[in-house]
Amino acid sequence: MPDLSDKPYRIGRSKTGLGLFATQPIKKGTKIIRYIGPMLDCNKKKDDAVENKYLFQISKRWTVDGSVRKNIARYINHSCKPNAESDVSVKKRKIIIRAIKNIEPGEEINYDYGTEYFKEYLKPIGCKCDSCEKKRKKKAAEARAEKARLKDKAERKVQKQAEKAAGKKAKAGKSAGKTAKAKAKTGAKTSKAKLPKTKTKAKAAAAA
Ligand SMILES: [Zn+2]
Repeated sequence: MPDLSDKPYRIGRSKTGLGLFATQPIKKGTKIIRYIGPMLDCNKKKDDAVENKYLFQISKRWTVDGSVRKNIARYINHSCKPNAESDVSVKKRKIIIRAIKNIEPGEEINYDYGTEYFKEYLKPIGCKCDSCEKKRKKKAAEARAEKARLKDKAERKVQKQAEKAAGKKAKAGKSAGKTAKAKAKTGAKTSKAKLPKTKTKAKAAAAA
């Protein structure tokens, strides 16, 4: 590992492997690091044949091969909502990574790799930057909420149907009860009506 003790950053573990992290506050607008490496000329067959993930195109003709060990900037990961940017000087054939926000110690330094890199390398595997992770989490939470809502709706429907069925039964039970009561009343009347007769009979018996 290179000695970075005099730099405001260090190489550290990130979600996707290694990354570059601020060790000191880095003010918005300041240069963080230069993206360095051999200059490839696409007019040379040998240069044009080079292929790796660290190629940084400066112009139609020139590309920096950033895959070399001394290029510490290659540790900087992509973010769709970055705190730094790549500042390219075509004339000087120079790439500077510059802070576009105030960066706090411990914060990972990111810049946007651009649509071409994104399409080729990140889209197929899914971008793992904080912004995309947040979006993904939000979407998943929304999907979960929707699933729960539908489940709740289905459960309520079942419950309503059960209540409806129970209500019908209760109604049926109530009318059955009414019939029973009516019968009981009739029965009472009958017994009441019968009672005097018995009394009469008893009286008659007593009299006899
Ligand atoms: Zn992203």
